[in-house]
Amino acid sequence: MKRTIKYEADRVKGFGREVMSVPGCEELENCIQCGTCSGVCPLSIYMDHSPRQIMALTRSDFKNEVLTSHTIWLCASCYACSVECPREIRITDIMYELKQRAIHEGIYPRRFPIPVLAKEFSKMAHDLGRVTENFLVVKLFLKTNWMAAIGMWRLGLNLIRTGRFSLKRESIQRRGELAKMLESVENEKETA
Ligand code: SF4
Ligand code: SF4
Repeated sequence: MKRTIKYEADRVKGFGREVMSVPGCEELENCIQCGTCSGVCPLSIYMDHSPRQIMALTRSDFKNEVLTSHTIWLCASCYACSVECPREIRITDIMYELKQRAIHEGIYPRRFPIPVLAKEFSKMAHDLGRVTENFLVVKLFLKTNWMAAIGMWRLGLNLIRTGRFSLKRESIQRRGELAKMLESVENEKETA
């Protein structure tokens, strides 16, 4: 876990309020920093900030520290923390909100596979209405560890030869309608 000194200048005023204004995240205000969430989290030993620290940093406006943290991406959404929290804070949902913000603002740990995978997945679903796993995996390798991708060329060729790696990207028809639908959801969120 990181134990660093925090400076007033690092705060992005209003960030905590913004997160707490999202439906489901309001209770964060009532966190008593008891640490139960960190205690029950099966993944907290691998996190750079414990769930308790993420709650405190979010509420105190340390936006960059929260959004570049590995913690939000390591969260497996098991809901153990939310079930045990004595203040009924929906920690898992707050983690989701933070992940969405990180992708939206392009602030996340570079070359860490999980946010890159999430970003590419949602982009593909948004643009094409379908996700083609082969292309997704290739993009993930190229953006996080292209050396490993080069090392796997033989496997790739074999998969193509045996028909197990299609070079065809899947897509829905009437993509324009999907784009309009997603745009109206975005507009709704912005005006909410
Ligand atoms: S368990 Fe709930 S109240 Fe306790 S530190 Fe975690 S979020 Fe805060
Ligand atoms: S939902 Fe995420 S933060 Fe909460 S206990 Fe599970 S892995 Fe940990």
